[in-house]
Amino acid sequence: MTTPDPVPRNLPANMCPPHLLGRCARCLAPCHRYGVGGSPLCQTHQAEVAKLQNPVS
Ligand SMILES: [Zn+2]
Repeated sequence: MTTPDPVPRNLPANMCPPHLLGRCARCLAPCHRYGVGGSPLCQTHQAEVAKLQNPVS
């Protein structure tokens, strides 16, 4: 059986297919930027932004 969705989520850069890699808009680190689950921010900065948008305390 084949997997229907090989890139289901935002991936760490070291697990991301090269054609989906780009540079984080903030720190220019390689990140999963394109395709399904892609983001213009690296995972570190995604987490930072998510925290700012949804403060726990
Ligand atoms: Zn970053």
